[in-house]
Amino acid sequence: MNVRIARWVIVTVFGSFLLYTNPALAAGVEVQWLGHATVKITSVKGKVILIDPFLKNNPKTPAKFRDLKALGKVDVILVTHGHGDHIYDLEELAKLTGATVVANYEFILNAITLGLLNGDKSIGMNKGGTVSPVGRGVKIHMVPAEHSSSIDLKAFGLMDKEPGSRRTVEGGPAVGYVIELENGFKVYHSGDTDVFLGMSLIHEFFKPDLALVCISGHFTMGPEGAAYAVNKLIKPKMVAPIHYGTFPVINRTPAEFKAALGNTPVKLLDLPPGKTLRF
Ligand SMILES: [Zn+2]
Repeated sequence: MNVRIARWVIVTVFGSFLLYTNPALAAGVEVQWLGHATVKITSVKGKVILIDPFLKNNPKTPAKFRDLKALGKVDVILVTHGHGDHIYDLEELAKLTGATVVANYEFILNAITLGLLNGDKSIGMNKGGTVSPVGRGVKIHMVPAEHSSSIDLKAFGLMDKEPGSRRTVEGGPAVGYVIELENGFKVYHSGDTDVFLGMSLIHEFFKPDLALVCISGHFTMGPEGAAYAVNKLIKPKMVAPIHYGTFPVINRTPAEFKAALGNTPVKLLDLPPGKTLRF
């Protein structure tokens, strides 16, 4: 038998054995963008991770998902920062699903004090840290973002309940996440950010398979900055743009992002709101 055929036989037989002994590995990872920065990731073993819940009043969310119950079970909610368009449905979704909420330390502390989150189901952490709230197979790494952050009280109706209260309270730093799934697949969610040189460390440390990057301009990097970040710093295998077109002021487009990416080895994915990609 020639060497190449022998190698093919060994790989095929061993791969089939792995799938037979652990069928979950065949299922893969699901990634679904639900508009703005809201992303649902379903792990190989069916753990559901929801990032930045903004669904009920999100004009880009498909109608079906504006009912929070349509999400089904949610095991973990990740918060990139406290601006309203990233947390509008956090309190309700956390209560509805019993999900564990992960965010930076100050955000968690103040959200618990305000009565928005259950302290027993909240994890405060910080940039550089890794947590595994759904078991060791899924690692959640908190990484830097270059943006501001505060907890937007108006998002929770607290301005009306507490006359004279400030519009915002301390929300800690804005962050991004790298989510490492059971099969080694890694998704980077940029949160809101400008391009920054530290993104090259996200490549060095994690080598993301898929990067979900904001391209909206005005509050975050626009298509040109995002394209520079992807091509020169993050260098993922695949990329999909998020956080654009939700409101008139964030009007930069995926077409501009595609043009700015130019000739690149990074695969640009077509990921409209509601579509599920499997890896
Ligand atoms: Zn923001």
